[in-house]
Amino acid sequence: MSNHLFDAIRAAANPAAPFIETLDGRSWTYQDMLDQSGKLAGVLIELGVEPGDRVAVQVEKSAEALMLYLACVRAGAVYLPLNTAYTLAELDYFISDAEPRLVVCAPKARGGLEPVAAKYGARVETLDDAGGGSLMDKTAGRPADFANVQRGPDDLAAILYTSGTTGRSKGAMLSHDNLLSNAATLREYWRFTSQDRLIHALPIFHTHGLFVASNVIMLSGASMYFLSKFDPEEVLRLMQSASVLMGVPTFYVRLLQSEGLTKEATAHMRLFISGSAPLLADTHRQFEEATGHRILERYGMTETNMNTSNPYEGERVAGTVGFPLPGVSLRVTDPETGVPVADGETGMIEVKGPNVFQGYWRMPEKTKAEFREDGFFITGDLGKVDERGYVHIVGRGKDLVISGGYNIYPKEVETEIDQLAGVVESAVIGVAHPDFGEGVTAIVVRQKGANLAEADVLASLKDRLARYKQPKRVIFVEELPRNTMGKVQKNVLRDTYAGLYQ
Ligand code: ATP
Ligand code: MG
Repeated sequence: MSNHLFDAIRAAANPAAPFIETLDGRSWTYQDMLDQSGKLAGVLIELGVEPGDRVAVQVEKSAEALMLYLACVRAGAVYLPLNTAYTLAELDYFISDAEPRLVVCAPKARGGLEPVAAKYGARVETLDDAGGGSLMDKTAGRPADFANVQRGPDDLAAILYTSGTTGRSKGAMLSHDNLLSNAATLREYWRFTSQDRLIHALPIFHTHGLFVASNVIMLSGASMYFLSKFDPEEVLRLMQSASVLMGVPTFYVRLLQSEGLTKEATAHMRLFISGSAPLLADTHRQFEEATGHRILERYGMTETNMNTSNPYEGERVAGTVGFPLPGVSLRVTDPETGVPVADGETGMIEVKGPNVFQGYWRMPEKTKAEFREDGFFITGDLGKVDERGYVHIVGRGKDLVISGGYNIYPKEVETEIDQLAGVVESAVIGVAHPDFGEGVTAIVVRQKGANLAEADVLASLKDRLARYKQPKRVIFVEELPRNTMGKVQKNVLRDTYAGLYQ
């Protein structure tokens, strides 16, 4: 029977071709992928998983975890991966919210999870990082053939929770075609072929590592090194025999700290991609100086997969996220009225296309509020489109600072501060202020040994920024708080400095 997403993956799979290699010396061909996902799909059916049922998965990264994702797709279930950092209390929320039929966790988490799962009628099975556990045990002796459950383009393939950077994570409902259409577009846009070998060092509970990386690789019939964590020296070594790296900006910052990052070390690579958080223009330039490669930055989110990308052949412009992808319509509107702003003006980024999700799981009001009447999704990101058509992200709507009645885009202030000698990076936030409503506040990371003081930063900004944009205070820290995807947690900073002007 036809299964929209898996049929396309199956069609691209050459059974004899390599698919995954892990550092412990294990490897999987596409035949192994077909067999193992088929067996696991059979296990899911045996465990009572029916089409549309959620399968919640909180496990360490492994090839088997990816096979489980495919098994869910084939069995018509809805795959629901969860961040490995979530605590039991957090899992209680996700399980109560998603009501999965089955929860798959690490063997050591089973004891704690079982009573939680039982409360909501879910069953628990285990999968460890070496591919063992009760779920895998059930595949023994099982036929690899599996008749895929019928699924159309609009049927759900996954519920993926957002990163929770701005508040409680929301479950984004993604259909078979949301995933397939985006992966097919990216494969063409980034010129993936079966000859590619990706260095996969991202987690697979997030859209970047799971859908962007894995779906693109499978749709290309390509292969990947599947790493449990990002280790710059290991990654440099693998570059000798790989072709593409997909990373969050912190990967590139850390690679730049290694002496091994040279033109020779990266000569075998054809493409470096960055996303999930803003890449500093400085990092982009330094990387090009060290390697001769221009990092390709793209922009996406859990709800939409990828929206924009710098071009493969054309100019990759530092500090921009490139052009809307083919099939994606993007516009910039006044956040209050929803009316498109004039060309080049900053406003709310809205997108529409086959990539855009089906809504937030069990949040009809929230879903309604985030879509315009004509189907455009309000991303929550502020940005502009320049005269050449490149999209610039200036920050999140929720991070906008309003001081003395003026709107201040943090990115503009951060860009000025980041250019100062002795500064590594900065985060500008609004902190409650008795006179101004919010006071512009700069949190700055200094280079080692730099003796830059608050007054120096303030003095340097005097002639560069309008007065209302100038920070009221500059605070130096060792590093900015980041979540697992390398995103700066401005809400944490806002909490930390909440009393600054009181
Ligand atoms: P939550 O929605 O729960 O607050 P989140 O928005 O961080 O969390 P994700 O869906 O993982 O969750 O992240 C999407 C967001 O990441 C985008 O809306 C955007 O703000 C940011 N982002 C992604 N790529 C880029 C990029 N290249 N440059 C700047 N920001 C980016
Ligand atoms: Mg978000």
